[in-house]
Formats: sequence, C-alpha cells, structure tokens
Amino acid sequence: MKIIEHFIGGKEYSGSSKRLSPVYNPATGEETAKVKLGSIEDLNRTAEVAQKALASWSNTPPLQRARVLFKFKELIEKNEDELTKIIVSEHGKVYEDAKGSLTRGLEVVEYACGIPQMLKGEFTENVGKNVDSWSLRQPLGVCAGITPFNFPAMVPMWMFPMAIACGNTFILKPSEKDPSCSIRLAELFKEAGLPDGVFNIVNGDKEVVDAIISNKKISAVSFVGSTPIAKYIYENCAKNEKRVQALGGAKNHCVVMPDCDLDQAVNGLMGAAYGSAGERCMAQSVAVAVGNIGDKLVKSLKTKVENLKVGPGMDKNSEMGPLVTKEHLEKVKGYVDIGIQEGAELIVDGRDLKLQGYEKGYYMGGCLFDKVEKDMRIYKEEIFGPVLSVLRAKNFEEALNLVNDHEFGNGVSIFTRDGDVGRSFSSKAKIGMVGINIPIPVPMAFHSFGGWKRSLFGDQHMHGPEGVRFYTKLKTITSRWPDGLKSDPEFVMPTMK
Ligand code: NAD
Repeated sequence: MKIIEHFIGGKEYSGSSKRLSPVYNPATGEETAKVKLGSIEDLNRTAEVAQKALASWSNTPPLQRARVLFKFKELIEKNEDELTKIIVSEHGKVYEDAKGSLTRGLEVVEYACGIPQMLKGEFTENVGKNVDSWSLRQPLGVCAGITPFNFPAMVPMWMFPMAIACGNTFILKPSEKDPSCSIRLAELFKEAGLPDGVFNIVNGDKEVVDAIISNKKISAVSFVGSTPIAKYIYENCAKNEKRVQALGGAKNHCVVMPDCDLDQAVNGLMGAAYGSAGERCMAQSVAVAVGNIGDKLVKSLKTKVENLKVGPGMDKNSEMGPLVTKEHLEKVKGYVDIGIQEGAELIVDGRDLKLQGYEKGYYMGGCLFDKVEKDMRIYKEEIFGPVLSVLRAKNFEEALNLVNDHEFGNGVSIFTRDGDVGRSFSSKAKIGMVGINIPIPVPMAFHSFGGWKRSLFGDQHMHGPEGVRFYTKLKTITSRWPDGLKSDPEFVMPTMK
C-alpha cells in the first residue's frame, strides 16, 4: 500500500508519527493509499525548517521570486493532465471540472507573477519641509494554510503562491482525504527553483492543526473549511496572536425572478447545484422562485435532474461524479431523509442510484426538493451534496430577506432581465460574492474571494489584492537628512500649520 508522506525542506519526510489515514478512490470505493497523520513534533520541526528558509527568501528580490513563479506556472501547464487525474482519483469530480479548478489555481500563480508591481509601495516627497515619507509592505514570516477536501489544488493555490510571492515561507496542511495533489505541486515548485524549506507540507488531522495554532514561529494562518472549524481556528489563532483568515461553509441562494430567461436560469442552476456533486462552497443549494415562476421552474428542473448523467470522473460522459467518502455520502442521504420528515416535497429522489461495475463507489443521483420552508434543517444547514431545495417567495423583498437572514453569506445569484432589480439586489444583498445572471460568481484571481457573515471569520478575503494585504505587514518610514540647521527639541505634535 502506498504511503503518502510529508514534504519538508524540499524532500519527502516520514516524520515521527506512525498514525495513518486511508485515502480512497471515490469512483470505485477502493483504498488507494494511506496518508501519514503528522505529530506535534513533525509540525514543530517543519516550522523550524520554514523559519530557517525565511531569512534568505524574504531577502530575495521580488523579481527573482516572480521568476520562480513563472517557471512554476509553466510546469503546472506541462503537468496539467497528471495533476487533473490526481484530483479526480482522490476527490471524484469529473475530469473537465477538475481541470477547470486547477486552472483557477494556476490563475493565482499568474497573478502572483506580478508581485514586483504589487509590492512597489507609496512615496511622498516633502510630507514636511525636507521630510519624506514612504510606505512599504514586508513579509509576515512563516505562514500556514489548512485546506478542505473539495478543491485539493485550487484552495491551497489561493494561499501559498501569494504568501510565497510576498516573501513568506509556507506550511500547508491539506485535507487528509485527498492530499496527493498538494505533494505533486510542492515537487513542481521545487523543480521550478524554489529553495528548500520555503514551501512545506505536513499531512495530518486535528493534532497538526492544533500544533499550527500554538506554534510561536508561525505568524499567520489561512483556513478554508466548514464553519465550526473556521470559528475554532479564528478564535484560537487570535488568542495566540496570529493573523488569521478563516473561510467557512455556505448555503448559496439563486433568486429566480418571473421575468428571467428560464432556460438560462435552469441551466445555470443545474451546473451550480449538481456540478462537483454539490461539493463546492459556491454550489447553489437553494433556489428561490419569486412570484408565479415556481411551478415552471420545478417542472423544468425535474426533467433535467432525472436525466443527470452520474458516473466516474474519468468517464467523458459523466456530468456528476461520486461523493468524496462513504461517510459523506451517508450524511448527504441522511439530509434527504430529514427533508422528507420535515415535510418538504421530494420531487426527484437520487438516493438509490446504483452504477453497474461501480457498486462500491460513493454515488447518488441528484435530489430536488420543492416547498422547502425557512425553518427546515435542510434549508438552514449546509448539506454539501447534490441536493437542491426550492423555496417560494411572493416578491423580490421576500426573496432578498431570505438571502439576508441566512447565517451564511458566501455567494448568491439572481436571474432577471430587469436592470433595476439586478442593481438593487447586488447592492442590498448581505453576501460577499454576487452574480447577476451568473450562477457561480467565483471572482477571478485578480479580484479576491470571500464571503460575509458566518462564511468568513477575519478581515481579508483570499488572493488578489486582499491576498497581498493579508500576507504582508505595512510599514511607513518618515525620514529627514541632517541639513546643517540647528534643531531644537520639539514637545508638541508636529503639524503642517
Ligand atoms: P472541514 O472543516 O471538515 O476540514 C477542513 C480542514 O480542517 C481539513 O484540513 C481538516 O483536516 C481540518 N479539520 C477537520 N476537523 C478539524 C478539527 N476538529 N480541528 C481542527 N482541524 C480540523 O471541511 P471539509 O469537509 O474538508 O470541507 C468542506 C467544507 O469546506 C464545507 O463546509 C465548505 O463549504 C467549506 N469550504 C468553504 C470554502 C470557502 O471559500 N468559504 C471553500 C471550500 C470549502
């Protein structure tokens, strides 16, 4: 059985821990490897390695750092097929979707290649007579990232290329469910010329996460995962005086207005609700049908959900792959049971789907609920599977209130032909990322990604300009050169008056 080790100081590292966790191919249910679960000692040793590498890397001119990133970008492109297959084999999503998610990560690397421009700073000549002032951004030190299972390439790549471009060193703790893609990325980064110790991976579970939180050498933590863990990370990193951004769960609504192009809305919803088996933080798991469009919307969705092509991620005909693990599959099916008990109307039931030749894979078909009410658990909680709930709202205000009253605030969409409605919605929605006739409004790398409310704890969103702010400290220098004039002590605040 293959053992997936850590990657520390530029090479594979076995570490002190003997604990292992199984890694499965969700398409077949076969255990393909075991991943090492690191110890406190493993993490502490890695932090020392990253700290040692920091002095030289933070002093490397940004242009030279960018050249390593350019080479890394080339290597990701060259190895795109291999990386994509690794994602499919451990996560289960379909090949083209996995490739798309890798590209979204690659775009962050491309953005990070512009780091010399982004770190230029600001200068003012003569803030006072013969006094100049400038502001610059310096790296934080050793940074860490803790990532979820659902985007094994993209989410780590929201973090480490930005942190490293800014002159920090980095420790990644990927999801123990699909760790192999991160390891391959670390190997490619080394091949691109990244010095040893700048990018390290410690595999593991809560033990490594808690060791990250308490390690004094680590200055900042980026987290993406479920809301309870995000809150835990946020509170405990703050307690340990670390900078922290912790992105949590979601329940993204899609508001369908009566004047919309219904085909566009339905097709958008199909991809957004069932793509990647609903295991996306930007998945749309709630459709709010406004006015009289509800029956037409449900009818049209029903046909499409019933015809969804479910199969292994490597099959070109598959539109939706399996769920990540057997436990997660059971949890999602359990939510469908709860929805029925709560009185929602199950229009399409995908719970019993079986695939010939893949009987042990973690598959289910798409599920569609109608007449969901706002006090039901299937509406309030994140299911993270291929289950779409339709709620009815009398008018725009009622739909907007649903969106704004929900505890999560990651993404939202509205489908309408009315510009006033679209504009008013985007302005009033208490949500971090808004789409108008766009089903999954994931910002590009040169903007930033992040939700509001209990979908993000902390101040800064990820990658883009917010990424540079998060991974650097601002310093402002004020300077005067001795000009031969006699100066007297000044006991009052210097002003320009
Ligand atoms: P998770 O919270 O279970 O795990 C995330 C990370 O935290 C993993 O690395 C895991 O090892 C670690 N972890 C798990 N339990 C822990 C504990 N008790 N103490 C310390 N660390 C722990 O999340 P997941 O199931 O891997 O991913 C799915 C979740 O991630 C969903 O809620 C989804 O919405 C969210 N997500 C959010 C975003 C976003 O941008 N907001 C993006 C992707 C995924």
